[in-house]
Amino acid sequence: MPQKYECYHTRPCYICGKKDWCYWLDYGSTGILHYCHRIHDDEIIANGHIYIAKKVVSGCTVYEDKQQYERNLEEWIASKEGEKSFRRRKLLPKNRTSVEVIPGEKEKVYEEYPVAPPEKLDEVYHYFLSLLVLESWHEKLLRDEWNSPVFKNLYEFITGLWPIKTLPPNDYVRFAGKMPYKNLTRKSIMEKMIKKFDTLEGIPGFHQKEDGNWTCSYLAGMVFPCYNSNGQIIRLRIRDDFPVVKEAVYKGWTGEYRYECTKEEIGWFFCKEGTENKVLVFGYDRITGEAIRKISLTQNGQPPGKVFGKYKNFTSYKEKNIEKEDFIQVINYYNKGTRSGSPISLYMKPGDDIRTVYITEGEKKAMVINAFTGCPVISLPGVSNYGKLFEPQEGIGMSIMDALRAAGVVNVVLMYDADKRSKENVAYSEKQAMEQILMHGFILWVGEWLQYFGKGSDDCYITGVKPVLHRIVRQESGPVK
Ligand SMILES: [Zn+2]
Repeated sequence: MPQKYECYHTRPCYICGKKDWCYWLDYGSTGILHYCHRIHDDEIIANGHIYIAKKVVSGCTVYEDKQQYERNLEEWIASKEGEKSFRRRKLLPKNRTSVEVIPGEKEKVYEEYPVAPPEKLDEVYHYFLSLLVLESWHEKLLRDEWNSPVFKNLYEFITGLWPIKTLPPNDYVRFAGKMPYKNLTRKSIMEKMIKKFDTLEGIPGFHQKEDGNWTCSYLAGMVFPCYNSNGQIIRLRIRDDFPVVKEAVYKGWTGEYRYECTKEEIGWFFCKEGTENKVLVFGYDRITGEAIRKISLTQNGQPPGKVFGKYKNFTSYKEKNIEKEDFIQVINYYNKGTRSGSPISLYMKPGDDIRTVYITEGEKKAMVINAFTGCPVISLPGVSNYGKLFEPQEGIGMSIMDALRAAGVVNVVLMYDADKRSKENVAYSEKQAMEQILMHGFILWVGEWLQYFGKGSDDCYITGVKPVLHRIVRQESGPVK
């Protein structure tokens, strides 16, 4: 039972500040609830804290410190981990079930929401991007990278064609740091989204929180739109500002901070400013147990240590396996979340030379190649994703390559990074992609350049050097040479 205390002159009510009539209940380790007779708002800021109204009890509005409320909620969620999956399953009204059988293993039954049709994705993502701005440090990064002696105003050219924006981090991460974000808070972004769309079901990257409010992926960074062959934005990709770095050590002002923390170290650790008042944050997602949001600093703004995956899919899907007697049920951790998968994207603009399509790895690179060549460019999320070129597009049916062929494309130019040529898996993927392209009747070219001019073909174009194109011909008997 909680202990009840009346307000008195040395300990006034936290909510209204008056010295009588109100009281509080002390629940020990769970915290304190404030019973105020005078103020009846949903949320108030007082005493340096945010208090949220929980209920009304005989004329008093009961307030709880927001931090305490969130802490208790998280603990409650953690304690309900087992039950939650059961409840979520019942929450899926239009679930899709697919079965994947691996010999000798239990079959996996997937339950997930289908993705919304492209018209809807396009509408939602366009609006979402319109709510975001590109922060100054991202703009600087692009301007520096796109500073070309042979193409003036490349930055203006590309950003004028395609919306490149910054998705700010979660509000609590943002306000813990000192970066001067111009973007709205995530809270107000999501409020605007919901005001416009009511629901974000079927939109990869968005999901519902436990309290029923919609939110989006915790990823923060530069956002790039991905387009299908109809020019609709069907996915977003994020260049992660806070990539996971393994084994990195940051020398803060009070000593060393290891980048990786154990599961028990839940909380936030801040380091004093490095180069640009950035902040180092550790944490674990209480729901998925996944490490979240980490940043540290080197002179060039990169985290030290080995960075894992800089470009990520804007998704709201994470598999959770539930072992059943004779099968494994696979559900989504994220309530009403939608899987993104790794999207391919087509960058083209009116007036492009539609006889040739370039294929490269990465959205940013693809935009640059389009600017220089004036040809449509396909971005693959990774070299091994070439299969997507010939797969039916969602909601369209026709593959991106068939759509391009119908529009007049006859030549295909592969532009994989020069340094990757030497890597076995890339060489293999490239060969497979070449087989596929030739098999589908296109004229195939491979772009080559000296690494001296840049690692990627985009660096090469920016310095004013055009890659050399080699025609690849299929031998009558045997694989591509
Ligand atoms: Zn009061």
